[in-house]
Amino acid sequence: MTKVGVLALQGDFAEHLQALGKLKVETREVRLPRDLEGLGGLIIPGGESTSMARLMDIYELRGPLKERVREGMAVWGTCAGMILLARRLVEDRPEPLGLMDIEVRRNAFGRQVDSFEADLVIPALGDKPFHAVFIRAPVITQVGPQAQIMAALKDGRAVAARQGRMLGTAFHPELTEDLRFHRHFLKMVRSRAE
Ligand code: GLN
Repeated sequence: MTKVGVLALQGDFAEHLQALGKLKVETREVRLPRDLEGLGGLIIPGGESTSMARLMDIYELRGPLKERVREGMAVWGTCAGMILLARRLVEDRPEPLGLMDIEVRRNAFGRQVDSFEADLVIPALGDKPFHAVFIRAPVITQVGPQAQIMAALKDGRAVAARQGRMLGTAFHPELTEDLRFHRHFLKMVRSRAE
């Protein structure tokens, strides 16, 4: 059976574990490099990307994580997790992992509207709009040739992207009851199409 890890250094990893539990997936909390062994996929949760990056460095996770993704482990970052997956940030900090061919701007919605919800049409998930929760959310400011935009706000700003077996969402599917994004990621984990 496919095991899916959730990076459990900081942020809302418990909610992701709960969602995966509802889908009867075997899960593992990832804190140390050895926790990555044998995982089919990894979720990097929402939280604070600077703290998460600092902890990844302290636990010496960066190298092994990138290595596992290169070997075919699927990865999905939500919010701060997507910030960490980016190739480049508009801001100087933190240093992202540079795995996805996207540029991301942190806290893109400013202080006044730092949290909001929106119904997104996401063809990959079917006809029913996905109710997305944004909390001090980033946006995708550039998409390189390797990545595809999966979802955008009405004003056109990109908030989800996919690249091969990697997925980034600016919002938090783990905070709603709609499990379609988690199911979609599991399909990516299970399809070792290469
Ligand atoms: N604003 C946070 C950051 O820059 C991300 C917020 C979130 O993950 N909900 O890291």
